Amino acid sequence: MTRKILTATAVLAVLTALAAVYYFVDPAHTVWMPKCPFRLLTGLDCPACGTQRALYALLHGAWSEALACNPFALISLPYLALVILTTLRTPGERSALRYVQHPRTVRLYLLLIVGWWILRNTPQWQ
Ligand SMILES: [Zn+2]
Repeated sequence: MTRKILTATAVLAVLTALAAVYYFVDPAHTVWMPKCPFRLLTGLDCPACGTQRALYALLHGAWSEALACNPFALISLPYLALVILTTLRTPGERSALRYVQHPRTVRLYLLLIVGWWILRNTPQWQ
């Protein structure tokens, strides 16, 4: 139980630190924030391009701007939060949350990522 509390505390601390960074630092106007290597090499967007700007906008209450930066990232946030929550739970625990990390759910999510990747790089989308 103590290990579980320590893990949850560590995860919460990391998420809080990341939220603080993305609240105080505008990634669009900062040179030291990580740039997307896929975009630098190809000129195309990867599925995560715009996520940093979306988080910055989201933390400042600018929902429409966040959606414009990367809508898939915003849609993914609840799922990723559930993945973190279920990871911290006891393995095998009977709960509706166990379906979050079910192989079919993960495969569907990966399929959605690939679909989003293709869609956002089609000329009609841009
Ligand atoms: Zn990218």
